[in-house]
Amino acid sequence: MALQPMMIYKLLPKKNCKECGVATCLAFAMKLAEGKVELALCPYLSAEAKNILGLESGPSVVEVRFGPAEREVILGGETVLYRHEKRFVNPTAIGILIDDNLSQTEMQRRLDLSSHILERTGMKLGMAYVVLRADEDNGDVFGWLVDEAVKRNLPVLLQASPDLCRLALGRGLVRPLIHSSYGQTEELLKLAGENALPVVVSGETLNQIAENALEAEKHAIKDIVIEPIAENIKDRTAMMVACRRSAVLKRDAVLGRPLLWQERESDNELCAQLAVMRYASLLSLRDCDLARLTPLLVLEQEIYSDPQKPISLSPGLYPIGNPGADSPVLITTNFSLTYFLVSGDAEASGIPCHLLLIEVEGQSVLTAFASGKLTAEKAAETIQESGIADRLNHRRLIIPGLISRMSGKLEDASGWQVDVGPQDSSRLPGWLKNYSTVSGSRG
Ligand code: SF4
Repeated sequence: MALQPMMIYKLLPKKNCKECGVATCLAFAMKLAEGKVELALCPYLSAEAKNILGLESGPSVVEVRFGPAEREVILGGETVLYRHEKRFVNPTAIGILIDDNLSQTEMQRRLDLSSHILERTGMKLGMAYVVLRADEDNGDVFGWLVDEAVKRNLPVLLQASPDLCRLALGRGLVRPLIHSSYGQTEELLKLAGENALPVVVSGETLNQIAENALEAEKHAIKDIVIEPIAENIKDRTAMMVACRRSAVLKRDAVLGRPLLWQERESDNELCAQLAVMRYASLLSLRDCDLARLTPLLVLEQEIYSDPQKPISLSPGLYPIGNPGADSPVLITTNFSLTYFLVSGDAEASGIPCHLLLIEVEGQSVLTAFASGKLTAEKAAETIQESGIADRLNHRRLIIPGLISRMSGKLEDASGWQVDVGPQDSSRLPGWLKNYSTVSGSRG
């Protein structure tokens, strides 16, 4: 179980010297328990304290990596059961199954889907890997699939016989993850051990999983992913949760490994979402299209974002279209969702604009205004620092309708004329069409 602050405090030197950047040893212990500081910041720890705290403050779920460096998939590294305790670390890697008995067109479609990128709140989201499965044991088709994966730098989970796994390695596949329960397990483990490759071991009970993981370790395999197997969703989910609980609460090193959820024929649509919410480090989908992938990626992004840090963008000037000296200037906050809504709505107007984001620690407009982070002085300062005035023939700016009360103060602080925009950015397209910085008025 993660150490409590008082247990950590007992192991600290109690010098209260502040060299760690924290006022007292007790405050340092509290921050360490919350994972907000690194143990190495205290230079006076005894060897015993380093041993105990180092072990206890490391991740409960070990990290496992696979795939080529350019698109490496990082799994695990988790320390908590619930994201509000700290945060989840490495998002669920979502992959798609490509079976060698599919038609050429379907294989191509799935390969293309694995390269699709969705941009949301400034982040690039997409499939992380492909599962290459050799059902037909056809070297020609499988070899073609491997060549495509190599060409596209795709991380691969291999479900194939030892011979086909060797063929894949021979054709340049970089650090694939080998599923050991597909074909001759003993030989697959030997192959993975000899090539220092990560493996998946599965089992229908936690004991079976642990036994299979220990068997893999005998082949000098360090990087192991575990897969709870159960046809029934309730049982599979219970096993996923039991593994994570054992890892976090009991520091169980055998079960403290990344978890694989392979979609089964009997799974319904909610199962994939359940897998993302219930600790799957890897989610292998049997089939997928963009309409299915997009909400899964959004869900994954929401769950794996840091709850203590709102998703934000750098403050400053963002062009919408190709704005010029007479274009309108809009201001809003640097909360990512706000930016993407406002920029999307401004873009929909077809009128090029300057969009100025104010640093408010990633809060939305009303929250930042209510908390005193979005003030007339701060907005005036941002306008000045941005240098926007040098690019314009006018001195007019548009503020969100929600903070209309700020308009007078902002005019005084900035010397600019302030126009109050709509309360809801979805009304911006129509509003901007009737707005002119040249005529000096709307409409
Ligand atoms: Fe305490 Fe170490 Fe921080 Fe000094 S550096 S205050 S001894 S925790």
